[in-house]
Amino acid sequence: MPHPRVGFLGLGTMGTPMAMHLAKAGFPLTVWNRTASKMTPLLRLGAKAGKGPAQVAAEAHIVITMVSQPQDVETVVLGPDGALAGLRSGSMLIDMSTVSPSTSRKLAGAVTTKQAEFLDAPVVGSKGPATEGTLVILVGGLPTTLERCRPVLAAMGKTIIHAGGVGMGSALKLATNLMLAHLAAGFAEGLLLVERAGLDPQRYFEVLEASTFRSPWYRSKGGTMAQRDFAAHFALKHMHKDLRLIDELAEEAGAVLPITRAIEALFAQAAAAGKNDLDYSAILDQLEHAR
Ligand code: NAP
Repeated sequence: MPHPRVGFLGLGTMGTPMAMHLAKAGFPLTVWNRTASKMTPLLRLGAKAGKGPAQVAAEAHIVITMVSQPQDVETVVLGPDGALAGLRSGSMLIDMSTVSPSTSRKLAGAVTTKQAEFLDAPVVGSKGPATEGTLVILVGGLPTTLERCRPVLAAMGKTIIHAGGVGMGSALKLATNLMLAHLAAGFAEGLLLVERAGLDPQRYFEVLEASTFRSPWYRSKGGTMAQRDFAAHFALKHMHKDLRLIDELAEEAGAVLPITRAIEALFAQAAAAGKNDLDYSAILDQLEHAR
């Protein structure tokens, strides 16, 4: 079977390395990004430059969206010149952005009107895993649609988890980022306490690594936090957006999450203090300057 043509919409921190894996795996690829200059690395790998989401969708069997927030995905898919306008019967649209389950269901409903199929397939893993092709992909949608899309997803990730029907990939992703936000906030508070109590932070890393709750995260992200390196791999504005989406989902689902709410308030303060485009780990910088 020849590889299906893939249309990739959204070439940011994550979208660029993900689309590069598709190009390198031999998928015929058409790409589009709102800021056209970001298409250059993909065009160098032989991808075609799309004119807009509708035109990209019109020539693709599988369309992938990887943009920022729910309203941005809606613009790219449902807006004027959105992918939906060009989507062909029998094709598939995979949204890999982190959005709410309700947004995924809305997109799925629209895609179905074109006799096309939909998956929500957000990813776990940041710029490093996206570059290495080792993302964990969380899928919501029909098993048959997943099987048709599996070769494309497998080119970008090492683990594919079928979470359930449409929206369940998004719900699982939000629950995962809830843990990541807790990890970052907890580690930041612990590191501050260690430093201010006069301990060597290396002892903190040693005990975390020897503990039953050890995680490679402490050395990788914890290490850059200890050095106050907040260059964005996963922008603080996106984690803040995810915390708002978690709050919305918790309301809908009747889950009471007071600790997550407190962490969300901390991220809101960091955003208001101008840290949106730093890494989400800059939550440490926010705490450090708190009174
Ligand atoms: P990013 O670097 O900020 O890139 C965002 C992309 O979305 C850019 O291509 C941007 O286009 C495009 N975009 C935003 N609003 C748009 C609109 N209204 N119309 C058209 N294009 C629009 O974000 P990212 O880090 O790649 O993250 C993408 C998604 O993956 C987010 O939902 C994020 O939460 C999720 N995610 C990120 C990470 C991570 O570690 N970075 C990990 C897992 C999941 P321009 O270039 O024109 O601005």
